[in-house]
This record gives sequence, C-alpha cells and structure tokens, in this order.
Amino acid sequence: MMLSKYLSGILLVEMSLGNSAAIRGTTLIMSQTVSPSIALPQTQQVLDVELRQVSKYFGGEAAIQNIDLKIREGEFFSILGPSGCGKTTTLRLIAGFEQPSAGMVLIQGRDMSRIPAHRRSVNTVFQSYALFNHMTVKDNISFGLRVKRMGRSQREQRVADALQLVKMESFANRYPQQLSGGQKQRVALARALVNRPAVMLLDEPLGALDLKLRKQMQVELTNLHQQLGITFVMVTHDQEEALSLSNRIAVMKDGDIEQIGTPSEIYDYPQTPFVADFIGETNLLQGEVEFADSQILRLLTPEGTTVLVNRSEANLPDLKTAVVSVRPENIRLSQEAPLNEGNCYSGYVKHIMYLGTHLHCVVQLQTGERLTVMQPNRSEQSLTPETPVYVSWLPSDCLALAA
Ligand code: ATP
Repeated sequence: MMLSKYLSGILLVEMSLGNSAAIRGTTLIMSQTVSPSIALPQTQQVLDVELRQVSKYFGGEAAIQNIDLKIREGEFFSILGPSGCGKTTTLRLIAGFEQPSAGMVLIQGRDMSRIPAHRRSVNTVFQSYALFNHMTVKDNISFGLRVKRMGRSQREQRVADALQLVKMESFANRYPQQLSGGQKQRVALARALVNRPAVMLLDEPLGALDLKLRKQMQVELTNLHQQLGITFVMVTHDQEEALSLSNRIAVMKDGDIEQIGTPSEIYDYPQTPFVADFIGETNLLQGEVEFADSQILRLLTPEGTTVLVNRSEANLPDLKTAVVSVRPENIRLSQEAPLNEGNCYSGYVKHIMYLGTHLHCVVQLQTGERLTVMQPNRSEQSLTPETPVYVSWLPSDCLALAA
C-alpha cells in the first residue's frame, strides 16, 4: 500500500494491486465529515440529496446525462442498473469525488459545486473495504476523527459506539488481515458511521461477499439504517438486494434514469420494457395494437399470438405498437385446457429446471414464441420436456408498455 496524497483532510491511498493503481475500486478515498455550518429552514430539509439536470462527460463521452434525482431524508435509496449505466458516477458526484460537467448537486439543500468531498456531510463505503492493513480495527475507525483533531476521550467514545453498532467490539485490536470478508465490511461501515454523516453512500457494499454472508449483511444494513435514521444511498447491480433493502429505487440505463419508484412500483408497474426485463424475470411480447377501448387492449404479435391486457393495467396513450410484459409467476401451466383465462395458448415443455419449491419451465407455443413459466412444484404434475401443455393468464395479470 502506498500513501500517495494527503490534501487538507482528504487522504488518497493508492493500494498497489498489480498494475491497476488507477482503477477506481483500488483507490481509497476517506473523507472527513463536516456538518453544514448554516442551519437550514425546516422546509428545505425534506430532501437530503438532489441532482438537477446533472451530466458527466469523460473525454467527450457521456457517463450520465441530464439526470434529475431527489432523495428524501432518512430514505434507503438504491441506484440499480447494468454495468456501465452510470451508477457509480452518480454516487461519486454526490460524494464529491467527481464534479458535474453540467447541472447541480445539492446536499441538504446546499449547492455542493464549491464544496470539496471532505467538507460534504457524506461518507462512502466501498466494495473493496479499503481498510488500512497496518492499522488495527480501532485505529482504522478512529482515523477520520484523528484527522479532524477530535479530543481523545470523545474519539474513543465514538469508536466504541461505532464498534457496538456493527457488533465488532471484541475485534477492536485485530488487524484487517485477521478478519473475514463480512467482518472487514462491518469495520468499513463503522469507519464511515463514526463520522456521523447525514448521508451514507454505499458503493456495491456487499459485492465481495459470498451469498450467505451477503444475505446476513443485508439484514444488518437494514437494521443499521433503521437504528440510525440517516439517509442511505446504495449502488448495486443486484436487483434482489435493491428490492429487499430499499424504500425507493432508481433504475438506470445508458446514463439515464428509466424509472424511480418503490420496490413494488418498480416490480409490479414497470414503465418501460427495459425495467420490466431488468427487474426480476419477465416475458415480453411485442406487437401491433389491434383494438383498444376503455376496458381492454388487444395486441397481435408478428407470430400471430393475440394477447389481452386490462386497459386499467395498460395505462398507455394511444399507441400503434406495444410490448406486453407478463411475469413467469403470473402464468398458469396446465395439462388440460383452462376455462375463462383470457389469454390461453397451447404448446409443449421445451426445458424444465427443478428449483425445489418451484419448477422453472420454458414453454414453446404453437405460434413459435417461447414463454418462461414459474410453477409451484406439485407432486401430481408429471412434466417432462415435450409434455403438451396450456399456458394461461388473466388480462389483469400482464402490463402493456410503450415499445
Ligand atoms: P459498474 O456496475 O460496472 O460499476 P456503473 O453503472 O457504476 O458500472 P460507471 O462506473 O458510472 O458505471 O461508468 C459509466 C460510464 O462512464 C462507463 O461507460 C465508464 O466506462 C465511464 N467512466 C466512468 N469513470 C470514468 C473515467 N474516470 N474515465 C473515463 N470513463 C469513465
């Protein structure tokens, strides 16, 4: 590890991992936390973080473009999207590690344009933990407070509180290399929390942990958030994690925000085919709108499949073409023709995967389309590849989206 830069409160430690010193993930940036000096009127404190028409260009290429984002005080807010969509750039703009090419970042109602990272009331937790290997857990946590020249007794109390919060009291004198991945991540959390930031920024905080530990830490993150009542902004590409932890989620694509909503709004009412497909699993059927009135919309796919969608669920302006999204768990699969299902098609089982409580089936329709169906695993069913089946769902169990 090489201490490469120390600038009035911002410490940049580049960790020599192979030749990748310039890689963002290997650069540790610890910022001190300073609460805003001017008390804000109550009305302005509703939003903790706001991005107004923010763009960021790297060498002429837009990483994010004209983003508007409002994160409320005390929210657990996640930024979700595929690799390269601009999640980390957005987080780094809030942290102050990047400056916007255009637009404005506000924290607690204050324009941050001239406020460096170490003077923003935010702290960041990185996926790579970014702990100082030559320091004990206790010293890692108290480092930021020492830089701020906090008195010893106050510092020790703060560190003890932070250690207790993350249940690491008995590890205070260990070194990072004597800790497991989950324990390291707890120390990284404590090191950020000890500064008592208004906003915690979490960049893929659980990305390096195995599945079981990840689940455990997800519960601990939720508990921490509830206990502290501060705003958490988390970047993740794990949709399950975002859905289970967040109050609201922003789904990003190609440097833009596709949709912001609660987990159920995002999952049950995706506004675009991309969001429907990215969050959970779905079947997308594109076609021409043959008929639409106030009750029902009828779509005809190029393969000749007719799909009915409840107009109340469709919620669309008049369109010539649309995409119907139907979740695998909303499709019923049967070996006998169902009655009154609205959308019913015959086909055969193409693939079948046993998932314990459920069967994950791909059904090939006679028209040629393939649908994924999630089916409870019932012993009376004997499904194998080639089994002729019917798939069906109600018009209220699918959504029509603008193509
Ligand atoms: P991932 O999930 O893979 O971390 P991400 O959604 O966080 O991806 P960003 O890291 O924000 O994506 O990157 C968005 C775009 O900006 C990408 O195309 C990336 O290559 C580019 N980019 C990010 N940082 C820089 C940089 N410092 N210099 C040049 N391009 C950059």
